[in-house]
Amino acid sequence: MQNSIYSRSNVGKSSLIKALFSLAPEVEVRVSKKPGHTKKMNFFKVGKHFTVVDMPGYGFRAPEDFVDMVETYLKERRNLKRTFLLVDSVVGIQKTDNIAIEMCEEFALPYVIVLTKIDKSSKGHLLKQVLQIQKFVNMKTQGCFPQLFPVSAVTFSGIHLLRCFIASVTGNLD
Ligand code: GDP
Repeated sequence: MQNSIYSRSNVGKSSLIKALFSLAPEVEVRVSKKPGHTKKMNFFKVGKHFTVVDMPGYGFRAPEDFVDMVETYLKERRNLKRTFLLVDSVVGIQKTDNIAIEMCEEFALPYVIVLTKIDKSSKGHLLKQVLQIQKFVNMKTQGCFPQLFPVSAVTFSGIHLLRCFIASVTGNLD
């Protein structure tokens, strides 16, 4: 059973994966020194329970074979439970995020939008982004989970809820 996590480069994907697994030191998470440098898929196996797949960042610095590799994986992986699409809460949904959303919609994947770096902006700015993205999700998407997950890999805000959600969708909450 797999979950894929992907985003534009530099949105905080490696940091989020590290935060999610901070209670599981046996899962070794590599965070590249230069930000935004995941070029291939990394598989993190959590016991026999589930696997998290770290996808290459899209947009700026995306590897050339990104489209082929990612599209094929997302389209054909039968045991893919959820795709987590990360959006930087400071900048909101960008053009390349829209392309990723369209891809999830086209392949009819169940996906979830996670808002990263929520410690970085004021409460007012964050609320505006959340409401805007929430409205977009409700009006324009079919496969997106109706609730956003705002998180910070620095303060750990929202991390526990996201862990519970992953446990729930992979059938590990009982
Ligand atoms: P990736 O390219 O998507 O894997 O992004 P990284 O995890 O490497 O993060 C990109 C940059 O954003 C790094 O400088 C991180 O320290 C920073 N960053 C990531 N998550 C957070 C967060 O929750 N809060 C803040 N303030 N910075 C973050």
